[in-house]
Amino acid sequence: MTKHPYPPEPFRIKVVEPIRLIPREAREAALKEAGYNLFLMKAEDMFIDLLTDSGTGAMSQEQWAAIMRGDESYAGARSYHRLKAAVEDVFGFKHFMPTHQGRAAENILAAVLVKPGQWVPSNMHFDTTDANIRARHGRPANLVIDEASDPENRHPFKGNMDINKLKAFIAKYGREQIPMGMITVTNNAGGGQPVSMENLKAVSQVYHENDIPFFIDAARYAENCFFIKQREPGYENKSVKEIAREMFSLADGMTMSAKKDAIVNIGGLLCLNDDTLFQNLKNELILREGFPTYGGLAGRDLDAMAVGLYEGLDEDYLSYRLGQTAYLASRLNDNGIPTIQPTGGHGVYVNAGAIFPHIPNYEFPAQALAVELYREGGIRGVEIGSVMFACLDPEDNTWHYPALELLRLAIPRRTYTQSHLDYVADCLAAIKSRANKVKGYKFTYAPELLRHFTARFEPL
Ligand SMILES: *Cc1c(COP(=O)(O)O)cnc(C)c1O
Repeated sequence: MTKHPYPPEPFRIKVVEPIRLIPREAREAALKEAGYNLFLMKAEDMFIDLLTDSGTGAMSQEQWAAIMRGDESYAGARSYHRLKAAVEDVFGFKHFMPTHQGRAAENILAAVLVKPGQWVPSNMHFDTTDANIRARHGRPANLVIDEASDPENRHPFKGNMDINKLKAFIAKYGREQIPMGMITVTNNAGGGQPVSMENLKAVSQVYHENDIPFFIDAARYAENCFFIKQREPGYENKSVKEIAREMFSLADGMTMSAKKDAIVNIGGLLCLNDDTLFQNLKNELILREGFPTYGGLAGRDLDAMAVGLYEGLDEDYLSYRLGQTAYLASRLNDNGIPTIQPTGGHGVYVNAGAIFPHIPNYEFPAQALAVELYREGGIRGVEIGSVMFACLDPEDNTWHYPALELLRLAIPRRTYTQSHLDYVADCLAAIKSRANKVKGYKFTYAPELLRHFTARFEPL
C-alpha cells in the first residue's frame, strides 16, 4: 500500500446502523428539555455522536463470532480462561480480574489502598479515577509536565509526568501518605497525549525507590504504544505488542477500561503482581462486582474482550485510527479552529476558550461550544473544562479552574467515515464565523462529584 497520511480503513462495512439529522427546531427543543447537558439527551436525536470513544466502537466479525462462544458458567467459564490467556500474553502481570468497567477496577483499588487524607499522584487522573480517590477521602494530584497546559506546544510526549515535581511531591508528603502512584496512558484529561517509554522508566524508578506501588491507567495503552513506535528513538522497529510488554514490565499493576483499546462495548480489567493485595482486591470484587472469574460481566463479554485486545494492537488498525484523528484536526486547523497540538490518539480537543474569548471560565465556554455544535449539526461532543474539573478546594475554600476550556470530539473506533468528519469540520467552521454572538451558561443544578454527567444549565 502507498504511504498515505490518512490511511483508508483496513476493513469494509458489513452491517450498517442508520442515523438521521432531526430538524433545527427539534434540536432546539431537545436541548432545552435536557437542561443543555448533552449527557441527558437521547442518542436517537444525535446525527454524529462524538461524546466518547468509550464502548462506542464497532466490533469485528471475529468479536461477534466470539460472543456466540460465550460460556455463561458462574465459575471458571471457558470464556474466563480465554480472556486470562490473552491478558497474560498482552500485559504479563501475575494476577488479573475482569471488572465491568475501568471505574470498577479503580473503585476496588481505591477501596483497598487509599486511606483518608492520603495522596495519589499521576500525570493527570481521569475524572472517574479522581472521583474514586476522593470518594475514599483521598487526594488525587496531577503532576504532568508544564508543556501539557500549552495547547500550541508540540512536545511529542505531552502526557509525560514531571519527574522533579514527582520527587518534590514525595519529599513533601512522605511515602507513608502515598499508598500508590499512577500514570494515565494516553493522558485522556490532557488531550489524549502519549507518555514516552523514557518517562515511564523514570516514573517507575522514582515510585520504586520510595516503595510506592505503581499502577498504570491503561485505557489507551495501545494508542500510546503506537505513538512510542512513531516518535521515540529506538522503538521504530519494535512491534506495538513488544512495546506494550516493556511498558507493563515497569509497573506493579494496571487498571483498564476495556471499552477503549480492547474495542468492546463493556468491560474492564485490574491486573497486578502482589499476591496479598490480589487476595484483598478479590474480596472487594466479590462484594461489589461478582465472582472473580466473571467480575460483573457476561461470559460473552469476556470473549469479545479477549479478541478485541489483539485487534486493538493491530498496527494497520492503529495507523488508520490515529490518522483519522489527525485528519479531523487538520481540517479544523485549516479553518482557523485551534485544537490541542499535537493531535492526540482518540479525539480532537478543540480550544473553546480561544474560540470564545469573551466567555469567562465560570460561564463555561466549552459547554457553550458543545451546545452550539449540537444546534448547528446534531453533533455531540463533550466539555472537558470547568464543568468537569473546576472544584472548590476544601483547604482554602476557593474555586480552582482547569488551565484549558476544551471541547473533546472523541472518535469511536471503526465507526465513522471521513465524510462524517468533513461534516463535523464544516459545522465547526460555521460556528466560528458567528462566535462573537454566542453566550455562556450557568448551572441550575449541580451535584458534588462527577457533576458533568447530571448537571443542568440555563443560557445567560
Ligand atoms: C474511560 C476511562 C476510565 C474509566 O473507565 P470506564 O470504563 O468508563 O469506567 C479511566 N481512565 C481513563 C483514562 C479513561 O479514559
